[in-house]
Amino acid sequence: MIPYGKQYIDRQDINAVTAVLRSDWLTQGPKILEFEQKLAKYCGAKYAVAVNNGTAALHLAYQAAGLKAGDEVITTPNTFIATTNMLLALKVKPVFCDIREDTNNINEFLIEKLVTKKTKAIVPVHLAGHPCKMEKIHQIANKHKLLVIEDACHALGAKYKQTKIGACRYSDLAVFSFHPVKPITTGEGGAVLTNNKKYYQKLMLLRSHGIRKDKKGFNVMTELGYNYRLTDIQAALGISQLDKLDKFIKERHQIVKWYEQSLTEIKQIILPLELKNCYSGWHLYIIKTKNKQDRLPLYQHLKDGGVGVNFHYPCVYRHPYYQRLGFSSARCAIAENYEKTAITLPIHCQLTKKEVFYITTLIKDFF
Ligand SMILES: *Cc1c(COP(=O)(O)O)cnc(C)c1O
Repeated sequence: MIPYGKQYIDRQDINAVTAVLRSDWLTQGPKILEFEQKLAKYCGAKYAVAVNNGTAALHLAYQAAGLKAGDEVITTPNTFIATTNMLLALKVKPVFCDIREDTNNINEFLIEKLVTKKTKAIVPVHLAGHPCKMEKIHQIANKHKLLVIEDACHALGAKYKQTKIGACRYSDLAVFSFHPVKPITTGEGGAVLTNNKKYYQKLMLLRSHGIRKDKKGFNVMTELGYNYRLTDIQAALGISQLDKLDKFIKERHQIVKWYEQSLTEIKQIILPLELKNCYSGWHLYIIKTKNKQDRLPLYQHLKDGGVGVNFHYPCVYRHPYYQRLGFSSARCAIAENYEKTAITLPIHCQLTKKEVFYITTLIKDFF
């Protein structure tokens, strides 16, 4: 089976991890800050807070931003469920905005209609590593005094208007994940980036039980926090992986070229694109069939051929849990149509030209 995504671990990574295992600090040691500083510098943000996974990062970002019960947040239905689950965890209501047909990202032109008195934030998700239209989203947010929190779990290394995603140039906070299928990995891991010192301090507090030192140096708990800490073992892996990130992204761009060379001629499918002013991280390679009837048979044909095809994502509000909460009426026609046509093909740094050729030949055989 050719997996749709896979980590790349080399000698440098293994040595970095074993060095920590031989050191005094397995957690709460010096590697955490080193990773945070390196990550913040890479993205061009002031602060980074490393946590134990992307879901925890979303939870903390939402809470640090002050989202609370009864608030509404506008986001896309075309995302991993964690984006909105963590809103529900805070009793915040996700309001689903339909997507653009070209990038499959939130349609910035439909956001404003959804703003109510309860709206507190917009959460764009850079699907497959392709940046959302952040300038426009930022404008809308300014006009209505909303926060922008980027779910950038797919988009580490991507750029929008020459600026790295994570720089928070058009947002208040940005969230990353370092799960093995993501742009870089720490096994499990995540981070929140921001340029705002208040958010930074709040994130640090919430990550570690809400405990801080009082004037006399005693530990006092002042906020309801968690243990969302990353270990030094993981941080060391993250530091080492960051060195390779730009290479990883270049390799992903090369794979996209190979796909395009073979697939452009197939008129029955639509290939993913990269808009002007956007440098995609190509976290996923999602094709769409022009005919809905082709999708499942093509999916099965690839699967039978040993290709680890996948599907990102069914509309969040169509999951049974969301239906039970009454989200069934949230209808995003483009997203629901997308759901009936999208197939994720493998893309990761170890995918070879030969494998891409094998996959594209299977697709050609099908049509
Ligand atoms: C992976 C992912 C998350 C969650 O990250 P984990 O590290 O798996 O908890 C959240 N949002 C999106 C869009 C993701 O792809």
